[in-house]
Amino acid sequence: MDLSYIINEYAEGRENYFNAVAPPIIQTSNFAFKTVDALRKSFEDEYSTYLYSRGLNPTVDMLRKKLAALDGAEDCLVFNSGAAAIFASVLANVKSGSHIISVKNPYTWAKKLFEIILPKFGVTHTYVDGTDTENFANAITPNTAIIYLESPNSFTYELQDLQAIAALAKQHYIVTIIDNSYCTPIYQKPITLGIDLALQSATKYISGHSDVVAGVLSGSKAMIERIFNSEYNTIGSGIQPFNAWLLLRGLRTLPMRLERITNTTKTVIAYLEQHPLVEEVLFPLSPNFPQYELARQQMTGGCGLLTFTIKANTIQQIETFCDNLQHILMAVSWGGYESLIIPKCAGLPQASFNAEDKSHRMLRLYVGLEDADYIIKDLDQAFKIINL
Ligand SMILES: *Cc1c(COP(=O)(O)O)cnc(C)c1O
Repeated sequence: MDLSYIINEYAEGRENYFNAVAPPIIQTSNFAFKTVDALRKSFEDEYSTYLYSRGLNPTVDMLRKKLAALDGAEDCLVFNSGAAAIFASVLANVKSGSHIISVKNPYTWAKKLFEIILPKFGVTHTYVDGTDTENFANAITPNTAIIYLESPNSFTYELQDLQAIAALAKQHYIVTIIDNSYCTPIYQKPITLGIDLALQSATKYISGHSDVVAGVLSGSKAMIERIFNSEYNTIGSGIQPFNAWLLLRGLRTLPMRLERITNTTKTVIAYLEQHPLVEEVLFPLSPNFPQYELARQQMTGGCGLLTFTIKANTIQQIETFCDNLQHILMAVSWGGYESLIIPKCAGLPQASFNAEDKSHRMLRLYVGLEDADYIIKDLDQAFKIINL
């Protein structure tokens, strides 16, 4: 399917709603039936009918079809957050005694799931350095049920070789799950590389406007149907119709936003790399990135997230730099229209700052839709303040 077709036409069903060009928000909790028999059939197979909007809803379905097509997957579910997509995908594939192999330092709330919630039910985990596929092979036990990936991660951008790991997991009947938030299916299609379940935080690029929290989980029809009939409906955190509509709206401009951000990011990186106060810039598609070759193989693009290290001697210098940015906002999340920054040291007690630890001097920058010059000028004036 052509990308333009998926985004502009696929699954719109306009003939069902007066040929309106914009999709309707079917803001209903429930759906009525004409006969007991029809109601009975819906109870028996909720995955194929509109019964109750915690399950299926027509506005949400339109979005599901488009997002599954973007992923090259048979089906998908859309959740009220990326975290809920992580929770459902993992929960659906473990039982008491199961073992999970996860890439080290996964997204915060995946980490809490592995470290705090699942151990209560006898589910254990092993973290591995995902840059070497051998580490996954060596960590497999007879109880390993899931290999959990995040490639690239969203601070230091380490990658995993998706095709090799998917092949390894298949030999051992292990389910593979990837957090694909960094790339979106526009720049990386893990399902087509053999990964079983691909999830992403739609809060980021799919929404693109910093006004929705949502998550997507894509996979085979069999797996998605099983998750729908258990975790999805039980956790009850499916996306609401209005938020689904906002994501449909965000999708219309997704490819052009990513293209714009890709170009701006290149210019911003070139600026940062020549700046005397910048020690290093981390970006998976920079030729000097340690896994550049793998990134080029399995990703067709990178985008607005990069990390740079300031040559600061004190935490105050980093704080002064951030506090003096006039346009780039200091906020969590990314993928919206606005440029954002988070210094690593915001997550540290001030007293534990150690300038010799390079990671303490890292700042994650998200490049938004502004002009490159506008962003660079803002960085430049803040650098000048700490360079006095
Ligand atoms: C934001 C994010 C999530 C979680 O998504 P929410 O929509 O915030 O729940 C998961 N993984 C990554 C890499 C993220 O950046």
